[in-house]
Amino acid sequence: MNAPLLEIRDLSKRFGGFVALRNVELAVGEGERLGLIGPNGSGKTTLINCISGVLRAEAGAVIFAGRNISALPAHRRSRLGIARSFQIPKPFAAMTVLENLRIPLEFAAAPERRAEDPVTAAHELLGLVGLDDKAAQTAGLLNQIELRKLELVRALAAGPSLLISDEAMAGLSAAEVDEILALLFRVNEQGIAVVMIEHIMRAVMGFCERIVVLDAGAKIADGTPDEILRDADVERAYLGD
Ligand code: ADP
Ligand code: MG
Repeated sequence: MNAPLLEIRDLSKRFGGFVALRNVELAVGEGERLGLIGPNGSGKTTLINCISGVLRAEAGAVIFAGRNISALPAHRRSRLGIARSFQIPKPFAAMTVLENLRIPLEFAAAPERRAEDPVTAAHELLGLVGLDDKAAQTAGLLNQIELRKLELVRALAAGPSLLISDEAMAGLSAAEVDEILALLFRVNEQGIAVVMIEHIMRAVMGFCERIVVLDAGAKIADGTPDEILRDADVERAYLGD
């Protein structure tokens, strides 16, 4: 692994009496492609929420680029370079596709990383995902794959060094999964670390250099795709005893 970009230290999160994350330790290297997998309800989205600042953990620390960001609100973390896409895309449905990108381009990025001309920058991002011909269309009219692509470029508009993709492929066809995979590879080639949360094993195994497995809020494995495939604890978590 390269120098760590993100470090999660001994992180725990409760919802009332329910422990959603238990002493999780995790590191993501600069430019790394990391998979985060685990059965439904194992805490993946909660962990992402604690990293992006949507939720505050009760215990532990989130260190990003050497700085403890545990107490920072989400918009400050975004300006430092942490971007995430949501499991359910949440575009501004009444605005055009282009306007949906202008908002993060003008507000989510740090001032020194903000595009000089947000309209040109928005068109460039749309070109990256093949959505430029939809720039003037109302976002609410996009189909499922177009929505996922818009969700990803909205995250990229902030100029992140870390992109966390939360189930960007769920419900897509095999060909559409390949399109999103190619897009994430392109993002990674620009030096952006990518954390991929995904249930589609073919995608996770093909994309990730390293995979972390959560089960019931605890990290149960951390290794290469091959190591994860052969891990007995992982097999038990997915198939039961
Ligand atoms: P995953 O993304 O791995 O499917 P989540 O992180 O969404 O899992 O959820 C982990 C557990 O925490 C689940 O049991 C879920 O019901 C619970 N949970 C998530 N968010 C909340 C919340 N805001 N309030 C109460 N329980 C929650
Ligand atoms: Mg989830």
